[in-house]
Amino acid sequence: MGIIEKMRLDGKKGFVTGAARGIGKCTATAFAQAGADVAIVDMDYETAVVTAKQIAEETGRKVIALKCDVTDEAQVKEMVEEVVKQLGGLDFCHANAGIAINAPAEEMTYAQWKKIIDVNLNSVFLTDTYAGRYMLANGGGSIINTASMSGHIVNVPQPQCGYNASKAGVMQLTKSLAVEWAKKGVRVNSISPGYIGTELIMAAEHLKPLIEQWNAMAPMGRLGKPEELMGVVVYLASDAATFTTGSDFIVDGAFTCF
Ligand code: NAD
Repeated sequence: MGIIEKMRLDGKKGFVTGAARGIGKCTATAFAQAGADVAIVDMDYETAVVTAKQIAEETGRKVIALKCDVTDEAQVKEMVEEVVKQLGGLDFCHANAGIAINAPAEEMTYAQWKKIIDVNLNSVFLTDTYAGRYMLANGGGSIINTASMSGHIVNVPQPQCGYNASKAGVMQLTKSLAVEWAKKGVRVNSISPGYIGTELIMAAEHLKPLIEQWNAMAPMGRLGKPEELMGVVVYLASDAATFTTGSDFIVDGAFTCF
């Protein structure tokens, strides 16, 4: 089989969390374009339904919407069971849901800190382990986590210590699971996007001055586009990546290079 055929996902089934919009919507679209059936998992169920319909119409794949708060263990367990039931299996998943909280450390409340660790890191543990248990018992699979360049560097000028710590945690969790499951057929990798101009970011008036500062620091002088993450996730989910596990893929237009 040629390399392009190996990168196709025909017959595979997977889910993406935080897929109603933004980066997750785009990676779910990529998986479906590559031939997979996909579940759009999000706590915003109404938008997830619209997104699922749109991707199904565009790609002709089976695309379903599932409501799930990824910080709730019972909901994550049920969501994975529902994906298996409705799609007929689980070959890959993209644990992508996340939030940002910007606050100077000395003003950040403990509640804010716990919230960001819960949504950005604890949820990845839950998603990966529930998906992983199924994959370990059913012939293996590929897990992709969304970390961030913020797990590698400290962004400026906005203060975001909780976000940065959560994303560094996602990378080390990724590597730990990859080692534990390396001989058991389950691969675990992360992607670390740089600043990505999602609908939300581009529409936020208050972010415009920040975007100008980020662009001034960026070697390419611009934000990334969500679709510029499509290739790496399809590769990671595919059988072209059978020796790729425990890796983090920085996709940041060289932002973190200096
Ligand atoms: P976004 O806010 O546009 O979309 C996030 C989605 O996650 C939303 O649909 C939201 O409803 C959902 N979500 C949030 N909390 C949830 C929960 N508890 N349970 C279920 N769903 C939940 O965000 P985005 O910019 O697309 O970011 C997606 C991921 O990429 C995040 O992990 C983020 O940290 C990461 N990331 C983003 C950028 C960027 O510049 N946009 C850069 C690096 C990493």
